[in-house]
Amino acid sequence: RAKADIGRAVCFYESKMDEAARARHTLAQDLRRAVELDQLDLHYQVQTSVRTGQICGYEVLLRWHHPERGAVPPSEFIPIAEESGTILVIGEWVLRTACKEAASWEQPYKIAVNLSPVQFAHADLAKLVHTILLETGLAPSRLELEITESTIIADKTRTLHVLRQIRALGVTVAIDDFGTGYSSLDTLRSFPFDKIKLDRSFMSEVDHSIQAKAIVRAVLTLGKSLDIPVLAEGVETNHQLEILRVEGCDEAQGFFLGRPKPVGQIFQVETSADDDEASAFSGRLPPH
Ligand code: C2E
Ligand code: MG
Ligand code: MG
Ligand code: MG
Repeated sequence: RAKADIGRAVCFYESKMDEAARARHTLAQDLRRAVELDQLDLHYQVQTSVRTGQICGYEVLLRWHHPERGAVPPSEFIPIAEESGTILVIGEWVLRTACKEAASWEQPYKIAVNLSPVQFAHADLAKLVHTILLETGLAPSRLELEITESTIIADKTRTLHVLRQIRALGVTVAIDDFGTGYSSLDTLRSFPFDKIKLDRSFMSEVDHSIQAKAIVRAVLTLGKSLDIPVLAEGVETNHQLEILRVEGCDEAQGFFLGRPKPVGQIFQVETSADDDEASAFSGRLPPH
């Protein structure tokens, strides 16, 4: 009896697995056509100076509007795009579209674009970045590329080589989700990053966990010693921002400062209805 139960459970599990695999396969196929069908869209999330409240730049975040499923989160479709290789086409589209949009802004804000490890492995990335900058006319100093530690771990020698080429163009490089990988300190020793983005998991606990606060403090000290500015991700409350101010953090990003928004909405003057992110800084300079 027990054996039969286990057998049934295994069957159930396997059919669920099939289902999941099929769903992924379908999604991968849909994704392949998402660029041509114009289903992709970019959102921009503000990055601000903790000390002055001034805007430092905007992180570019990809959005997919699936015709039947609606908005699919990047955490779901990016891994599928990476597995199937579609990320190469999508990543190029993101870079080109973001550079083109930013080049038309009145203010020369920086944009930060996320790169996948696959883009390092399969393309002449530095050449692509160079071509897109020439094509769109965006000043190289206005482009920042964000990579995670998984990119470096994948092929350290090659990644460092490509990063040096990219940096030689005048483009800056940030290490994203810092503190969650397993060789954070070695990563900093290997490459001169222009920015450390402290993973948002630390921010979510900084109010109540002594450990999280100690780690935030240690990373800020590390950044100061290495002369690399630190940006704290995932700032959701004024209290968290206050802690960052006291601890001397350089920049911050998070829902409290601004949610990711379509490009048409980022420069709109905030109304009082927008209270989750309004008046985070009373002295904030208007973008225009
Ligand atoms: P990420 O690069 O670390 O981006 C930050 C993520 O945190 C974004 O999620 C953003 O919406 C979210 N976030 C920002 N502020 C807060 C906050 O205060 N609280 C919370 N809980 N979350 C906040 P999103 O847009 O869902 O993107 C998730 C991840 O997908 C990104 O993490 C990035 O790794 C990846 N991704 C997004 N766009 C692209 C892209 O164009 N290319 C590649 N390769 N990856 C991308
Ligand atoms: Mg990022
Ligand atoms: Mg991040
Ligand atoms: Mg992340």
